[in-house]
Amino acid sequence: MKKLVIASGNSGKLREFRELLAARGIEVIPQGELGVPDADEPHETFVENALAKARHASRVAGLPAFADDSGICVTALAGAPGVRSARYAGPPPAGSPEGRAAQDARNNEKLVAALAGSADRRAHYCCVIVLVRHATDPEPLIAEGRWHGEVVAAPRGTNGFGYDPHFLIPALGRTAAELPAAEKNRISHRGCAIAALLAQLHEDPGFGNRDSDRAS
Ligand code: IMP
Repeated sequence: MKKLVIASGNSGKLREFRELLAARGIEVIPQGELGVPDADEPHETFVENALAKARHASRVAGLPAFADDSGICVTALAGAPGVRSARYAGPPPAGSPEGRAAQDARNNEKLVAALAGSADRRAHYCCVIVLVRHATDPEPLIAEGRWHGEVVAAPRGTNGFGYDPHFLIPALGRTAAELPAAEKNRISHRGCAIAALLAQLHEDPGFGNRDSDRAS
């Protein structure tokens, strides 16, 4: 089985990627298991951050690696919070560490306030996945997914995480937090990016086009 390091410690992402890539004969190993520390994410774009994380993991582990970076981009805010989505509202008050739910609540409060009075509520989630075969790979695989919606002031739903209770998909009349996980995964930015990555891997001489593929 081919080994692929994932540059993330997020157990939800690990499970999802593991299931999808096992079917391709690829074993996904979290970077933490190989002693790879988290890389910095100093860049202004998702693709640069994902590339930095994947390259770092590949260099330290000596194996092919991939990383994803994602966030919400609001049209009326020129794409903000974008790569700063996770820490949009800034760090917690000094001396009071907070959990993910509290951080999400502060981020959502800031986003709703930033759009107060704005008629343009358009936003989209973006996810970029970058895979490098080795640390100096000159042609990384880059897969993107976007999910379009609108920011609503009043939260709805309890599924998902982050901005989901405020992210309305007009065609469905529901927020992302009102969708069952399987439905969200099928149509979300991350789901689309993963599908695009799998299509690219299928064409890659190192990862796809296995004998079983050729036979079918
Ligand atoms: P990361 O790519 O896991 O670092 O996610 C970056 C941040 O973007 C998260 O902390 C959330 O604030 C936001 N985000 C990314 N994807 C989603 C999503 O599917 N739902 C809600 N928020 C998301």
